Amino acid sequence: MSDTIDPVALAADLIACPSVTPEEGGAQALLEETLSAQGFEVHRFEAGAPPDGPVPNLFATRGSGGPHFAFAGHTDVVPPGAGWASYPFEPEQRGGLLYGRGAVDMKGAIACFAAGAARRRDHRGTLSLIITGDEEGAAVHGTRALIDWMAERAIQPDMILIGEPTSEARLGDTIKIGRRGSVNMFIHVVGTQAHVAYPHQGDNPIPKAMRIASRLHEMTLDDGHDWFQPSNLEITTVDVDNPAHNVIPGSVFMRLNIRFNVHHKGDALVEAVRAIVEEEAPGSRFEASISGEAFVTEPGELSDLVGAAITEVTGLSPALSTGGGTSDARFLHKLCPVVEFGLLNATMHKLDEAVAVEDLEQLTRIYESVIGRALG
Ligand SMILES: [Zn+2]
Repeated sequence: MSDTIDPVALAADLIACPSVTPEEGGAQALLEETLSAQGFEVHRFEAGAPPDGPVPNLFATRGSGGPHFAFAGHTDVVPPGAGWASYPFEPEQRGGLLYGRGAVDMKGAIACFAAGAARRRDHRGTLSLIITGDEEGAAVHGTRALIDWMAERAIQPDMILIGEPTSEARLGDTIKIGRRGSVNMFIHVVGTQAHVAYPHQGDNPIPKAMRIASRLHEMTLDDGHDWFQPSNLEITTVDVDNPAHNVIPGSVFMRLNIRFNVHHKGDALVEAVRAIVEEEAPGSRFEASISGEAFVTEPGELSDLVGAAITEVTGLSPALSTGGGTSDARFLHKLCPVVEFGLLNATMHKLDEAVAVEDLEQLTRIYESVIGRALG
């Protein structure tokens, strides 16, 4: 049994596992072995079926009773894409950087947390890791399945830190305390195709679609919130696909996305847009898909604790942010207070994703301090 974990070596070993969603790629087997050697009880299970699964999930826990502090993350990665300087699943150190898919999003942070936990085996209460293999994909059989699995066993963390890459310019400059919600909508305005010279035989859907677009564009959703920018609605496409100059087209297809703050619920936004569509173009086809609701963990014990650990190691006072896309925090915040803090996000999902070796060392010290402060 090894007493310590080298976060750089573990990050490299995890990167070497080709775990593009929903492939396990050996990453969770490696974590099981690593965490078991540190006194964690490790449970692994698969959820879902093709094409979105089966998804590998892992829950590791050490200690007993309260308080219960948990770290959450994912071992899956987005596809590497072509054009890397080195092979994306063969980690390589060059100029103080460790290159490989998942270096910052987020195998590096998992390695740092495991290494931090190895240095703090003396904690009280319970320390857990909630690790999914389906964060970058459909996110149906990952964290949601883990939440169900925990509920069946009456496992209830008191605080969760998610290790997503939140730092912007320097490690430690930003913590995320919430996320905006996101909803996609699809509008199909149907008319009647006809010859332009015989307009009475047709019904042109373009003017109706333009009125819908104009009213949506003029909607003011809100003026922002203490911790959020104003919600925004963006029309992302308006397609007619009519190559002929003498044909009234039969339909217009529109898509839009709303990124919204805690002033709104996804359902209410869907109904507001549906009402405009019904008024301007009755009988249009309309569909909506809510990717996640907005949420915030108001600044308090958890953000103070993580912030203090960051300041201790880096000297920085992190900004509290709710920017960026969605994450699995949209599910986990229903359990308890959740904040997100991890590596620099500059190269995530890009070619030549890389993490500074020094940042892995610092993040390990930060996570070690977080565990000490939460369960010391
Ligand atoms: Zn991620």
